[in-house]
Amino acid sequence: MKVRILGCSGGIGGRHLRTTSLLVDNDILIDAGTGVGDLAIAELAQIDHVFITHSHLDHLACLPFMVDTVGDMRSRPVIVHATEPTLEIIRAHVFNWAIWPDFSVIPSVEKPFLRFSPIKVGEAIDLDGRKVIPLPANHTVPAVGYQLDSGNASLVFTGDTGPCPELWNE
Ligand SMILES: [Zn+2]
Repeated sequence: MKVRILGCSGGIGGRHLRTTSLLVDNDILIDAGTGVGDLAIAELAQIDHVFITHSHLDHLACLPFMVDTVGDMRSRPVIVHATEPTLEIIRAHVFNWAIWPDFSVIPSVEKPFLRFSPIKVGEAIDLDGRKVIPLPANHTVPAVGYQLDSGNASLVFTGDTGPCPELWNE
């Protein structure tokens, strides 16, 4: 498991400031902030899974552009993993046809560019032996962190959180 920090700032500007996104290997994104914009189109097209910590714009600003850019280059949908409350916000306020088209039904319901997949805290998603485990977080909107577990080593990314005893216990 290789982790590349694409962005970890709260804002943009200049050569160094990009908002939050981590690329895991070539195919997994943790959050999709403006750091995603530095990837080449060929790199964007390899991303199969996007795990969102929470709905704040600095963590998902590039998701709509990415899906639109690579959709017709790919044979399967980009899967967006997030908790049900976060998915509801993303559906209602981003992919709502007013801010951006609903790519979960484009070009067709059967073969969309994007698929939403609900996750639950504590329930690991296993991607070819790489586990992504949602962890509790405490933020102003529904939020999670993630543990990335390769089997040999693991890393915890809290996302945005304040004091959160449940997270420290994990
Ligand atoms: Zn936030």
